[in-house]
Amino acid sequence: MDSEVKDFQRYPYPEHFLFRSPPFHVEGQSAGGHDIFSLKLNAARKLPRALLIAGVHGNETESHAFIHDFLEEFQDSEHKLPVELYVLPNLNPDGFFAFTRQNANGVDLNRNMKTKDWQPGIPGDRYYGGSYPESENETKILTRIILNFKPQLIISLHSWKPMININGPAHPFAEAMAGKLTYPITEDVGYPTPGSLGTFAGWERQIPTITLEIERGMSLQKVYPLCRDAVLEAFFLLARLQSS
Ligand SMILES: [Zn+2]
Repeated sequence: MDSEVKDFQRYPYPEHFLFRSPPFHVEGQSAGGHDIFSLKLNAARKLPRALLIAGVHGNETESHAFIHDFLEEFQDSEHKLPVELYVLPNLNPDGFFAFTRQNANGVDLNRNMKTKDWQPGIPGDRYYGGSYPESENETKILTRIILNFKPQLIISLHSWKPMININGPAHPFAEAMAGKLTYPITEDVGYPTPGSLGTFAGWERQIPTITLEIERGMSLQKVYPLCRDAVLEAFFLLARLQSS
């Protein structure tokens, strides 16, 4: 825990980072009243559309580390990316500031999507799905982006046991990623995930959806060097599939 807090502090995010330059857009507010930011890279170009999400669980600092370093590299050199990329760098700022999995309402945002299998769970529980599907602002924002932007690939960054988890027709993308990152590809995380993004986008809408579980507790400085090429490989595969 101590090392996590120390690492977390080495990433001055989002105050010093998100306000570095103006292109960030405010999508709305979290349950706890924090702004939820987004930005688009290559917005003016007609390219395949991908959505990259970090910080769904506020205590999964590895995802913040990835997105921080990713934007450091690409925010000013977006032309190097082969996709139009919608980035949600911190979907759960309440959890980020409080260092909790859930938002300020105690809801696990990856159990709150309006899916056929949604279940409330138990308030106070680690996986509490909310009082009704899509009850949370954060979920409404994510849903709106998916339905309006219509991404052809979604990568959501988490941290836990290392794995490339796939939902929907995502296997080719996972294979491409696994060529650059020696994490196992899984179709099942090992327990039910009602109301998850993977079910909403991957299974119910057939959008290839990858949940990249970065190894929990690894050195935050090593996250981006380790995972960068895998994520880029998925984007390049999307671009190749579109042009062929
Ligand atoms: Zn997570």
